[in-house]
Amino acid sequence: MIRVAIDGPGGTGKSTIAKAVAARFGLEYIDTGAMYRSIALKTIREGISPADESAIAEMLGTTTIDFDSGCVFLDGEDVGSLIRTNEVSMAASNVSRHACVRAKVDAVSKHLAATKSVVMEGRDIGTAVIPDAEVKIFMTAAPEIRAQRRYDQLIKAGKEADYDEIFREIQQRDYQDSHRELNPLRQADDAVYLDTSDLTIEQNIDAIADIINEKNT
Ligand code: C5P
Repeated sequence: MIRVAIDGPGGTGKSTIAKAVAARFGLEYIDTGAMYRSIALKTIREGISPADESAIAEMLGTTTIDFDSGCVFLDGEDVGSLIRTNEVSMAASNVSRHACVRAKVDAVSKHLAATKSVVMEGRDIGTAVIPDAEVKIFMTAAPEIRAQRRYDQLIKAGKEADYDEIFREIQQRDYQDSHRELNPLRQADDAVYLDTSDLTIEQNIDAIADIINEKNT
């Protein structure tokens, strides 16, 4: 069993990198952010305010979240293509502070980490979900660079994008995710710090592969 925990702020490219690393080492890739995003999507669909914890708790009583073969399922529906909008990003950050939401995602994540060799990415994997992970990485990049990457991605996909707005949202999400009371984003004491500001995707994947190989020998 090997569990690789990758944490870091939004927009660092964790999903792309974690997916590629998982494929390289034959491990299961688990995106915990996608599960928070699915819950956020359901609150939007049902018109529930992200601040209304008791309504969210009630909603979760009849909600199933699964993560299988790189895909997230909300009540059995593959919602992967619906959860990557700015609206869902902000809503995910807003709902993720509630204990009932964290407990729901933690239960799925911990079960997966206990039964499979995984690359799991999120905000609190090395600190709370798998505190005894064999490999822990804290991946980050300057907010200006993360905003630029996101901007380039949207433009390339033929979508509209406003750099200043993206930058503001990145800063707001960083602040919320690292200042909430429950399991905020922070580097685990025993995590390797990796600043990817000047790395290409390939270099980033290689850097993480080196860390895994080093820990494994
Ligand atoms: O990683 P991603 O940007 O998809 O995560 C969406 C949101 O879900 C984050 O902004 C954060 O608030 C929340 N999250 C979390 N804990 C995790 C993963 C994501 O609180 N382990």
